[in-house]
Amino acid sequence: MAAPRVAIVGAGFGGLCMAIRLRRAGIGSFTVFEKAGELGGTWRDNTYPGAGCDIPSHLYSYSFEKYASWTRRYPGQPEILAYLARCADKYDVRRRIRFHTEVVGAAFDGGRWQVSTAGSQREAFDVVVMGVGQLNRPRLPDIPGMSDFAGTAFHSARWNHDHDLTGRRVAVIGNGSSAAQFVPRIAGRAGRLEVFQRTPNWVIPKPDATFGPAARSALRLVPGLQRAYREWLYRYAENVFHPALARGWSAATLERRARGHLSAQVAAPVLRAKLTPDYPPGCKRVVIDSDFYAALTRPNVEVVTERIVRIGPGGVETEGGRHEADTIIYATGFRTTEFLAPIEVAGRGGHTLARQWNGGAEAYLGISMPNFPNLFLLYGPNTNLGHNSIVFMIECQVRHIMACLPYLSAGGPMEVRPEAMAAWTRQLDRAMAGMVWQDGCRSWYKTADGRVTNNWPGRADLYRRLTARSPRAAYRHIREPVDRERAVASPA
Ligand code: NAP
Repeated sequence: MAAPRVAIVGAGFGGLCMAIRLRRAGIGSFTVFEKAGELGGTWRDNTYPGAGCDIPSHLYSYSFEKYASWTRRYPGQPEILAYLARCADKYDVRRRIRFHTEVVGAAFDGGRWQVSTAGSQREAFDVVVMGVGQLNRPRLPDIPGMSDFAGTAFHSARWNHDHDLTGRRVAVIGNGSSAAQFVPRIAGRAGRLEVFQRTPNWVIPKPDATFGPAARSALRLVPGLQRAYREWLYRYAENVFHPALARGWSAATLERRARGHLSAQVAAPVLRAKLTPDYPPGCKRVVIDSDFYAALTRPNVEVVTERIVRIGPGGVETEGGRHEADTIIYATGFRTTEFLAPIEVAGRGGHTLARQWNGGAEAYLGISMPNFPNLFLLYGPNTNLGHNSIVFMIECQVRHIMACLPYLSAGGPMEVRPEAMAAWTRQLDRAMAGMVWQDGCRSWYKTADGRVTNNWPGRADLYRRLTARSPRAAYRHIREPVDRERAVASPA
């Protein structure tokens, strides 16, 4: 086979990384499908005030495109988006992006993937790489009466910048990382702001700082300095944050840090009690922010913990009474466990991903699935991190996919062997048992029945080693007889 035709779905961190790696390998036969009119994925969508990343800038960037000129220790959304746009232009992949083109389906047929886009266009590719991410579909809650609300309502990932919050009575539903970032930015403008909290989060301060001209010059000019700084950030995350999530030596340190931050910022015992979680830190995503607690102590801000029973035309009704509001901001997160949805994916022999993932999404290395030859995922099941940079994980995945390409070019479509998949699942289950995510909390890492489908339990180092292995032993080529075999499709 000549160079395979590759369809990449999504132009965020993952899709762009894949496109750049192909381009750098001299493979130009790829198309990036992007449903929106601009690249950037989650960093294009989340434009709420204060949006930013709580992973340090020099680590939250591609290893092959280090950037010395970050202006802050922790990057803001506009700077990350600009970084991605620069990468796309520098590596000349922008012209391969088909904007405003939503992929709605992919079907393996006759040894190739037929990729369908909205508007019923179909196009054949040898390989499909899904780079749609885990945090791409906002989740609105299912609260009775939401459509009756007479004011302005929007989700944090679809911020309504035309709506001036000055003097408004604002209800914020949710108190995760997104709310923690925007509440301090809007609290001073709103007339009254109520944060509806279902579960308190552990919060630790974010030691942000600006990089002045001298620091930026040093990082640019001193040989090896940027690399050493990045390496230090990475090692710190591996050696200090990971053990905290694996119930190791730093778990107590993390809890002390979070409790100390809460005590230092919130003096009132009643509010402090409301904000104190009853599960161990890390079970849900730890919020890393220095301004959230202070904002919650403002006289015009209140934390409401009574259960929401309905939303009416005039605001939010809880078990304790009515809370008048003219603006509701849903900071209620994303549909994280529905990987790839709503794209309909049909593999060989009548297998559909919807059916195969009935009990929760799973993929070998988070990248590939039996019955779905030449289909690869970026930031797929069990590859999210609570302790280190997702960009690192994406690069491991792209490297693995690049290593698969020569095999499938030489021997035809290939898929992961069922026994490799089973061994992976066993290994994952064993490692998962030691993690704090299991410890009695609800989180976006889990399905409704409690299975952690989103997070990688090991260190990032281990994931790098596993994905760096030759794919030869774990995959098999799909020859004609297997291809024709019809699976006994069980009812959905
Ligand atoms: P999230 O962490 O999933 O938080 C959703 C919030 O909405 C939770 O407080 C949840 O309460 C609440 N909620 C959901 N449904 C509700 C309902 N029916 N009634 C009342 N409350 C409800 O979402 P997010 O804050 O958007 O953050 C998602 C993830 O994005 C983060 O964990 C993080 O990984 C990423 N993120 C990262 C950064 C960064 O700096 N790197 C910044 C923002 C976001 P419960 O806790 O009770 O479920």
